[in-house]
Amino acid sequence: MQIFKKVSEIQDYLTKFNTKSVGFVATMGALHQAHISLIEMSQSENELTICSIFVNPKQFNKEEDLTNYPKSIEKDIKKLQEAYCDVVFIPSAEEMYPHQTEKEFHFGVLSEVMEAKHRPGHFNGVAIVIERFFEILNPTHAYFGEKDYQQLAVIKALTKKINSSVKIIGCPIYREENGLAMSSRNKRLSENQKEEASKINKALTFVSEHKNSHSITQLKEYFINEMATNSLFDLEYFEIADKNTLEPIINWNEATSYIAFTAVNVEGVRLIDNMTIIN
Ligand code: AMP
Repeated sequence: MQIFKKVSEIQDYLTKFNTKSVGFVATMGALHQAHISLIEMSQSENELTICSIFVNPKQFNKEEDLTNYPKSIEKDIKKLQEAYCDVVFIPSAEEMYPHQTEKEFHFGVLSEVMEAKHRPGHFNGVAIVIERFFEILNPTHAYFGEKDYQQLAVIKALTKKINSSVKIIGCPIYREENGLAMSSRNKRLSENQKEEASKINKALTFVSEHKNSHSITQLKEYFINEMATNSLFDLEYFEIADKNTLEPIINWNEATSYIAFTAVNVEGVRLIDNMTIIN
C-alpha cells in the first residue's frame, strides 16, 4: 500500500500508474467497517482504489466538534492495509488549501434543509474539499455512503455544477448489530449510550412500518415523542422528505419515494440516520 502526504507525490504516482479506472473514497479517518465497505465497492469496480484521510476543517461549523473528532491514524493505516487498499492520501490542511480563497456553492433546496439548516456552512466546506480532491486525484469513480444521504445528493449536484465526469456511487448504510448506523462518532459513546442510540434506528423502523396506517404528522409526533422521552437524547430534526429533491413534505402523495431523516444528539455526540420509506 502506497501512502502519500504531498499532492505532487501522489500526482506523480498516478501519472506513472496510468490506469483506466481510479476509485476514490474520501474519509475523515477513525475508520470502521462502513468505510471498508466503500473501499471494497471501489475495489470491485476499479483498477486502483485511493482512500483519503483528512479531517476537513472547512466542514465543521462548531470548533468543539472539530477538536473532539476522533483520530486514530496508525489504526486506520493498518485497517486499510488489511483491506488491500492500493493508495492512502493523508494531506495536511496546507497541502489541501494552499490559497486563502473561499468558494461559495449554492445547491438550492439541498443548501437549505435538514443538515444544511442545522449546520450552516457545512456543505460549502464539503463541496470545497471534494472539488479539491477531484482536482488533485482525477478519479473516474467516487464512493459515498447513504448514511450521509444529503451529502451524497450535494456531491451529485456539485459534479453537475463543475461539469465533472466523476461517476458518483452511493453505498448502503452499514449498521451495528443493534441497528445503530456506524459512525466514527460512535467511538465517543459508552456501551450504554450505544445501546440507547440504537433506539434511533428502531424509531425510524417504526415510521417505515407504519406509513400505510399513519399520516406524516402522526409519524412525526411519534418520533419526536420517542426522542423526547429518552433523557439521553436531544432531537435536532426529524423530517420525511422527497427522495429525489430532499424537500421535506407534509402529506403522503407529494412524491413517489420518501426518506425519513433525523439528527439526534446523544449526550453531546451528534448522530444522523435515515431510512427509505417507499421505494
Ligand atoms: P466520514 O469519515 O464520516 O466522512 O465518512 C466517509 C464516508 O463513509 C462517507 O461517504 C460516509 O457517508 C461513509 N460512511 C460513514 N458511515 C457510514 C455508514 N454507516 N454506512 C455507509 N457509509 C458510511
